[in-house]
Amino acid sequence: MTEMLKTSETTEKLLKFIDASPSCFHAVKNICVMLEDAGCIRLLENETWTLEKGKRYFTTRNGSSVLAFSVPENYNGMQIVSAHSDSPTFRVKSGAEITVEGHYKKLNTEGYGGMILSTWFDRPLSLAGRAVVRTESGVKSVLLNIDRDLCIIPSLAIHMTRGMADHKLNPQVDLLPLLGGENADYNALIAEEADVKKEDVISSDMFLYPRQHGVVFGMENEFIASPRLDDLQCAFSATEAFLNAENKEKLLISAVFDNEEVGSLTKQGADSTFLTDTVRRIASALNIPEAEWLRKMPDSFMLSADNAHAVHPNYTEKCDQTNRCYLNGGIVIKYSANQKYTTDSVSAAVFGEICRKAEVPVMIFYNRSDMAGGSTLGNISNGHLSLNTVDIGIPQLAMHSCVETAGEKDTAYMVKAMTAFYNADIRQTADGMYTF
Ligand code: ZN
Repeated sequence: MTEMLKTSETTEKLLKFIDASPSCFHAVKNICVMLEDAGCIRLLENETWTLEKGKRYFTTRNGSSVLAFSVPENYNGMQIVSAHSDSPTFRVKSGAEITVEGHYKKLNTEGYGGMILSTWFDRPLSLAGRAVVRTESGVKSVLLNIDRDLCIIPSLAIHMTRGMADHKLNPQVDLLPLLGGENADYNALIAEEADVKKEDVISSDMFLYPRQHGVVFGMENEFIASPRLDDLQCAFSATEAFLNAENKEKLLISAVFDNEEVGSLTKQGADSTFLTDTVRRIASALNIPEAEWLRKMPDSFMLSADNAHAVHPNYTEKCDQTNRCYLNGGIVIKYSANQKYTTDSVSAAVFGEICRKAEVPVMIFYNRSDMAGGSTLGNISNGHLSLNTVDIGIPQLAMHSCVETAGEKDTAYMVKAMTAFYNADIRQTADGMYTF
């Protein structure tokens, strides 16, 4: 057992990417670095776009959502992969400091999204996000990552919780992190990190993150554990696949949106005009008439990629009776009769066949019929840009825990499946009939 167990290159890259992405702003910055390193050209939303066939571009909104696209030789529809950049956490409020009896300083925070609260206790945490600082002519945002063990949310001792067995955790009471002693100065910390004077920090979006690094574990290194697997695992896979892909007939788009965890309804979320604004601008820059654009919509397709639930070893009864997903089992296709997931028999068949040809295993997920389950971004995005879509994901355990668990093999499966999807030229020949 002393022999070193091999970890795939994809896993190593993924864990490095997540480690370097403690906030949605950092995730998007790191995606932009991957794109730029591969020769993709950055476009700003407030400049005129001149696009050339065969070239790849990307644009961002709010620094927390990014759309990358490659311009085809001939326009025959678009093939999109979407994922999200945000994860549940706590955001620091303005008026950040609370002094406790002259001895402690703690941080005043509020929840962002639906985290498993109990997982945030007793582990080193720090802060990452952005601060907005005063400049001579206006303001500017500065990305911040306080790269050290900075604070902790201490549990209440077991001796003091007697009689509190059904104690419900309250984010305003139980979950405020201890920052330091009486002299701790939060605003000075932010100013120092932003490299400006304290009075020049005007506002900030700072989020807590666990200091735990991603690890590979298990008897044969079968598993990985890391913060933010949901959904940075899919965001990373989408970017890798986009950079691997080549398709001269299709506009390929990799869309990583912020704010999925809070319902997507923001100027940069999946429920915004970011994607439609961008594709309209691409059509206009390429002189594609609207009628032609609409004619190609049936030949367009989207993968909505967000992590999925695997069967839990201690709670096997929590999953559907006949549709079972396991770690290292490949890609999950998600169905919901109420259309929380966009998958229908046609979109599942098209994507399933692409996976089969690429030798990527596929599993099916349904919620138990007596359980509500979560939502994601596919159906929301379809309200703005309607096209045939399948909801997929990487199987994981402990979704929305501070540290989540997944299979070691599944990221590589996802990259392979998404690459095969981008490379396929999907065409609708009649209602319900496709070639690819
Ligand atoms: Zn998610």
